[in-house]
Amino acid sequence: MAVTEPAPAAVSAAHSAAHEGILRRQSARESAARTYARALPIVPVRARGLTIEGADGRRYLDCLSGAGTLALGHNHPVVLEAIRKVLDSGAPLQVLDLATPVKDAFTTELFRTLPRGLADRARIQFCGPAGTDAVEAALKLVRTATGRDGMLAFTGAYHGMTAGALEASGGATDVRVARLPYPQDYRCPFGIGGADGAEVAARWTESLLDDTKSGVLRPAGMILEPVQGEGGVIPAPDDWLRRMRAITAARSIPLIADEVQTGVGRTGAFWAVEHSGVVPDVMVLSKAIGGSLPLAVVVYRDDLDVWPPGAHAGTFRGNQLAMAAGAATLAYVRENGLAERAGVLGARMLTQLRSLAAEHPCIGDVRGRGLMIGVELVNPAGADGPEPGARSTTTGLLSPGRSPRPLPPAPELAAEVQRECLRRGLIVELGGRHSSVVRLLPPLTITDEQAAAILDRLADAISAAARPHHG
Ligand code: PMP
Repeated sequence: MAVTEPAPAAVSAAHSAAHEGILRRQSARESAARTYARALPIVPVRARGLTIEGADGRRYLDCLSGAGTLALGHNHPVVLEAIRKVLDSGAPLQVLDLATPVKDAFTTELFRTLPRGLADRARIQFCGPAGTDAVEAALKLVRTATGRDGMLAFTGAYHGMTAGALEASGGATDVRVARLPYPQDYRCPFGIGGADGAEVAARWTESLLDDTKSGVLRPAGMILEPVQGEGGVIPAPDDWLRRMRAITAARSIPLIADEVQTGVGRTGAFWAVEHSGVVPDVMVLSKAIGGSLPLAVVVYRDDLDVWPPGAHAGTFRGNQLAMAAGAATLAYVRENGLAERAGVLGARMLTQLRSLAAEHPCIGDVRGRGLMIGVELVNPAGADGPEPGARSTTTGLLSPGRSPRPLPPAPELAAEVQRECLRRGLIVELGGRHSSVVRLLPPLTITDEQAAAILDRLADAISAAARPHHG
């Protein structure tokens, strides 16, 4: 497919009026808590693959992908066909958690993809149709199975917006949740970064669990993202993940991998835990598994399946259209090697972005895994303290040695880059602790040409946004 350029500036007056009217009514009627709509004043009316067409007649390259939902991009033919097939078959669309052929096919396809070691002993709980509900289910599951109440979670984590998921997320506090350091190179809390920084983080975890006076409640589980998404695109080193597996296994603590955002090929493996060979006890899955429609499940080893009937209920656990779209998506990603493709293309894009960073002092760090990519913007004039501020020297996941003091985050610059991207017909998300990380989550189906167009527009946007800051 050819790269789609933004439609010419000469947009019809009617288009423009409709677009403005819809946005005006939205801001008058919708909640102050609305999010993406604030930074992205667009009105999507049509979409295909990477491209969204707005009510203003403009076309955009969509690297937000429904917050990482669209593994195959918008309206992929196999997804549409799967949905149409269910509609045309006369199958019921609301079935609670009853068995159906559509659900049976989805579960078969999902189990086929699971990491070996879990697949052969897996149970699945269909949840209310949001990632956060599956997180709640996972926390409840391990609390029931272990009879313990505590939970281990990480700095910078994001698990959702319902009470339990929020408590396990980095921005919250809960006496039952012990907060452990998630390893990171650029803003390593220990000022070390690389393999050594990850090792210190692992030892801290180990000592908290074994110190009888650490103040940590006996944990029912440990929940982690193999790559932190909302936290600023921070991939966990494989060695560290294996350490977490060993530490939890030695203490009979179930390990919960939240693969809501990392799953279905996004990071270059079908599931991100596969990079390290770690087999979790529980996996929380949503977003891409529904093929763009709402679906969330928790998958776990059968010996944890001791919660009673009704322990995690919900009216909307049987979304047949999402299961059909999801099964089609899972099969397409598997059959077409899209995880491998994401790995190769993502590595190339990271290399290109690192070259870009060499030209722009305002790019503090470039990181990611597969097609989950983050560019952290910093203030190059803001160095303070005895050590000179610096950009990351990260070239891989494990760079040994002491990391330089990171430069201060630049959230306003990041917001400006996002606006400049939109002006150039590119939709990007912001994330990270300080909202200073520009995030790219393109569909796994993008062509080399589309990847080049994305990077061109981003480079151009960064140049434009950085200009006034450089004086
Ligand atoms: N876990 C992770 C890792 C996520 O990225 C998200 C959503 N961004 C969630 C859980 C929550 O999913 P939902 O928004 O569907 O509730």
